[in-house]
Order: sequence, then structure tokens, then C-alpha cells
Amino acid sequence: MRVLWKLSAGASLHSPADVAFLLSVTLDTVTTPRSFDEFIGNREAIEHLRTAIAAGRLPHSLILAGPQGAGKYTLALMLAQAMECERQPRETSASGAEMAGFCGECSNCIRIAAAQNLEQKIEEAVAAREELREIDKKDTRVLIQTHPDVLIIPPDPPQLLIKIGQVRSLIHSIYYKPGEAPRKIYILTAAAFMKEAANALLKVLEEPPDYAHLFILAENPGELLPTIRSRCALVRLGALPAAELESLLATHHPEWKPAQRSLVARLAQGAAGRALSFDLAEYTACRLDALILLRTAISNPDHSALFKMTESYRAGAEGQQKTVALLRAVSSLLEDILLLQAGTPELIRNIDIQPELEKLAAAVDFGWIETASHALDQVESGLRRNLLRSLSLDAFATQLTAAAAERS
Ligand SMILES: [Zn+2]
Repeated sequence: MRVLWKLSAGASLHSPADVAFLLSVTLDTVTTPRSFDEFIGNREAIEHLRTAIAAGRLPHSLILAGPQGAGKYTLALMLAQAMECERQPRETSASGAEMAGFCGECSNCIRIAAAQNLEQKIEEAVAAREELREIDKKDTRVLIQTHPDVLIIPPDPPQLLIKIGQVRSLIHSIYYKPGEAPRKIYILTAAAFMKEAANALLKVLEEPPDYAHLFILAENPGELLPTIRSRCALVRLGALPAAELESLLATHHPEWKPAQRSLVARLAQGAAGRALSFDLAEYTACRLDALILLRTAISNPDHSALFKMTESYRAGAEGQQKTVALLRAVSSLLEDILLLQAGTPELIRNIDIQPELEKLAAAVDFGWIETASHALDQVESGLRRNLLRSLSLDAFATQLTAAAAERS
């Protein structure tokens, strides 16, 4: 961590709470897209956005919705580059409309692209906060800023919610005109807000300054307050068909077997970024634990295997990630079990373990799956409140077992 950067616009702001992290403006090893052509899928939505930028009528508040890995963040950065690029290149769409582009080489483009590797930037910011004095830590917000006019606001760990302090930083900065680029841009990378944070954001959305643009990236826009949704335009990034993802994988991962590519294409649920970066070994390990959990809950009164497994899910950032991955795997198995019960096996995702899933599907009924999904939601909200992971996992399994017992 190199610099702590004070919001230059607000000279009177001196507390640690008003410090944003300026992360080193160096290009990462991650390749940054050089043009909109490198964005995979959703051609129509992209053209629409580029045309709006070229015409100067991009809505000031925009929700970019789509599944994890659909490229919401990549696209938000590209749109930011297109608005801030010093060279303002233009292209013509198939229908003859003028579309904005970006050069990828000017100082604005380069600095915005430096935020490309979001996960790493968040880790750096969180690590920097950890090094602060205890008293300063509490008030320090995690913000990513590689360009003075572009502020990226990720959900703050460990709760992974956008907090009031982060939105206050946005409010402090948004009423100062941009200093080095034509626009002020704010990218909120998740739709999960603390209540006060959502209410504070609402005030800004009512009347954002002319030069400001806000992007809210949402896996599920339904998570947002209806009052926030109604003040934003919505652009959806749709899922790519599995066959398209498979051929994409064939180009990028020729070393994978066809069966692996076909499995990953389904598991990625139409999201190109997710498919390309899919760690099959990690997912398989996670799914094994998810299977133990479900199998135990359904048919095994002996919980020792289960407790042994949940014991490995420890507190801390790593434990949290592992738990989130486990819950996602459980959720994908439950969906497949439901699809098998509904008589639509061709739609399941975990195609490599279909026989095992059929056995599970035969052992439960719809009511049990409903109970399981509800319990899963509860564990997830428990995680947000930072309850002990293994405890909530054990509680989850116990609840499922009770539901199974009730029905037998
Ligand atoms: Zn440029």
C-alpha cells in the first residue's frame, strides 16, 4: 500500500474517515480490454449504451444487472473509459448510429483500467485498513480510486454490505466538479446496502449533478429499495447460451476435456467471465462438501461426518469465502434436484453427477426442498451478520434433518 489519498476537493476533511485509498496506478498482469469488441455477448445492450454516451444522453443513474461473471464490472469500467477518454473515438453501429469508444491509451483510460482487478484492489484496501490504529479502523471506508474522478465503492467486508460511511464519501465528493476528466463517475459494485446507506444514496439519486454518473451493479435488482430502482434506468446483461460458452471455452481452454467444458458451460450459468475463470477443481471439492451436507441431512442420523466437515469452515475472510462457495454449491444442487423432480433432467447443471442427484431427488419431496431453500437463505443472512460460520452451517444441517424426519 503506497499512499493514503485525501479527497482533494474537500480540503476541510481531515479525519481518517475522509481518507480514500488511492491504489497504485500500475497496470496489473490482468489484461485490460482494449475496446468494446472484446466484451463477450450482449451486443445489443452494449450498442445501446455506447450510442447513448455518444449522444450525451446516458442516464445519470443506471443499474447494470446480470448474473455473477456476466461482466457488469468490466462493462462499467469500459463505459467510464468511454465517457472520460481524452480522444473520444467514435464508431458507427450496424444501424448507422454513432457509438462512443475509448482509446485505452490516454491518461484517463489507463488510470480507470488500473481498477480492473477489483478483488485484488479490495484486498489491498482492506489490508491497509487492518494496519491502522484500532480507533481509526472503524471509521475507515473501503473505497477504490485509481482516477480522481472515478470512485469505486465495493461492499465492505466482512458483512459485504455497502455502508453509510461509504455513501457519505460519495456524497462529499459528488458535489465537487470533476478535476481531470469531463465527468464524475461512481461505481457501486453490489446491490446489498445497509439501510441507512440506501436511504442516503436515495437523496443523491433524486437530483444528481449534471456531470455525475452512478452505476449500481446488481446480481438481483430486487435487492434494491423500490425507490432506488424507480430512480435508475435498468440495463440487463442476459445469459449466453451454454453452446456459445462451450465454444468460447474450446478457444480459451483447449486443454480441458469436452466433458469438462460442457460441465463448466452449464455451471457458469451463461456468464462468460465466470466460465473463463472457472476453477473446476475448487468447485468439485466444494460440491463434495455440499453433497455430504445434503446426504447427511436426508438420510443419515449420524452427524459426525457432517461436523467433521463443517469444522473445516473457520472464521476469517478465507473461511467466509469458503462458506459462501459451499452455500452456492448447495444451492446449485438443490436446483438440480428440483429440476429432476420436475421431470426436466436436460436442464440440470451438475451433469457429471446426475445418478447421485437422482438418488437424492427420489429421497425428498418438494416441501423438503422448499424448507432447505429457506434454511439456506437464513444461513446467508446469518453470514451477513457475521455469525460463526460453522455454527450456522451445523444449524442449517440440523434444520434439514428435522424437516426430513418430519416427512418420513
Ligand atoms: Zn482514452
